[in-house]
Amino acid sequence: MSRPVIFDLFHTLIHGADEERDRVVGEMAVMVGVAPAALVAAYHATWRDRLVRWDVEETVRILAGRLGGAPTDDQVTRAGEHRRALGRRVLDSVSAATLGILDALRDDGHPLALISNATSDTAEAWPRSRLARRFDVAVFSCDVGLSKPDPAIYRLAAERLGVGPAECVFVGDGADGELAGAAAVGMTVFRTMEHNDTDPGWDGPAFATLGELSGLLRPGSVEQPAV
Ligand SMILES: [Mg+2]
Repeated sequence: MSRPVIFDLFHTLIHGADEERDRVVGEMAVMVGVAPAALVAAYHATWRDRLVRWDVEETVRILAGRLGGAPTDDQVTRAGEHRRALGRRVLDSVSAATLGILDALRDDGHPLALISNATSDTAEAWPRSRLARRFDVAVFSCDVGLSKPDPAIYRLAAERLGVGPAECVFVGDGADGELAGAAAVGMTVFRTMEHNDTDPGWDGPAFATLGELSGLLRPGSVEQPAV
């Protein structure tokens, strides 16, 4: 059987859009009547809560409140929609090359899964994205209340694929210690640098572009990958 492949999302399949995120949060701040720079800082400071606890509107209401704002429901809704539009836009940015690589993996019989540390705007946009139909399983931190590198989120993805973790290959840029987390549950790990050189200290196999992955997955290659 072709080995299941589990991908990270941001900086692995699509760019991370970090600067655009800050710009959008600044625009949301204006919508809800708080200082843009302060709301951007508050978003950065609360990323853990946003990954596993708060939805889009809760985030706006809680953080605006902490900054002395008292936005109306309409203002919160409008700011939330602005954030959701960003989530859709970032997923839409996936390249034709990446979609082709995923299609080729599927054609070769590899089951595909996603594990993403993501806020709810991304999880909500996922089902209608061009990426979604290529995946058998998608696990978002905001949906399951777990985030990488918690072993439980990797085990959950493997379980939903119907396989053991050691049968899986994990591919990611390495943010949040995700590569070590995947290795800890027995997955074969590849680091991608296509979008960002996030975890240069990782001493396992790495590749410059996602296109190199299929060669590494051919029988006999996985255990002796080219570094
Ligand atoms: Mg990533």
